[in-house]
Amino acid sequence: MKKTVNELQDQFRQLRLSETAEELPQLLREAEKSSWTYLEFLESITRYELAKREAKSFEKRMKWARFPFVKSLDEFELNGQNVLTARQLTQLRELSWLEQQYNLIILGPPGIGKTYIAIGLGLEAVSRGFNVYFATMGELVQLLKTEEYLNKSKVQLKRMRNADLVIIDDLMYMAMDQREANLFFHLINHLYERSSIILTSNKSPEEWGNMIGDQGITTAILDRLLHRVEVIQGGENEESYRMKNRKSIF
Ligand code: ADP
Ligand code: MG
Repeated sequence: MKKTVNELQDQFRQLRLSETAEELPQLLREAEKSSWTYLEFLESITRYELAKREAKSFEKRMKWARFPFVKSLDEFELNGQNVLTARQLTQLRELSWLEQQYNLIILGPPGIGKTYIAIGLGLEAVSRGFNVYFATMGELVQLLKTEEYLNKSKVQLKRMRNADLVIIDDLMYMAMDQREANLFFHLINHLYERSSIILTSNKSPEEWGNMIGDQGITTAILDRLLHRVEVIQGGENEESYRMKNRKSIF
């Protein structure tokens, strides 16, 4: 039973191992050159296919997450900020809060790194195999309001509802009307106990009521958000990182 490499490659493709099919000639050459055992050869094939699949799945998770920018927490500057201690940063990066479905609320004035921390943690989650979805509050409300008649919104919201981690950036920067508040409540209710949520806001939860309008809905939303939550409070008089590092034009 002598097969040509081409025939073998076809069979690999039929078995849905197309990445390995492409690589097969190189793997065979290496096997011969290094006199691999049967076991080593088989292992190199499965390892190759698995690595390729993981890379593809990572790419898809990154795309679906819709991060507005990508910046690792490796570059988080601990000096000169009082949002996170080194220990808190390490603990957050371990993601046990995500495994235990805790929410994170990151509060504080503009420019102190709220969005950066949220995205940085989102990136860690993606590389650990979690599905993540990022949206600003403005985008989110827009998606919810157009879900009924825009297929695009439907698709996005489906991904969001199935994500392990949903990041909602800049919560309550705007007032919501009754319908928007209702839609938002239903989303939070769906995510509650199913996923973790990271919220960032420059308003304190006490002020959220004014933005949502309806006190009953506000209480219901807060109930669910605050049930299992870690609050990260950036100092009120924390100097904005943007301000400190702004380039002077003079
Ligand atoms: P916020 O969301 O609180 O308004 P951002 O997350 O947008 O602030 O941060 C503003 C800018 O400053 C971003 O470019 C961010 O990467 C940077 N930044 C903020 N805090 C830090 C930090 N501790 N280390 C490094 N860069 C930071
Ligand atoms: Mg921000």
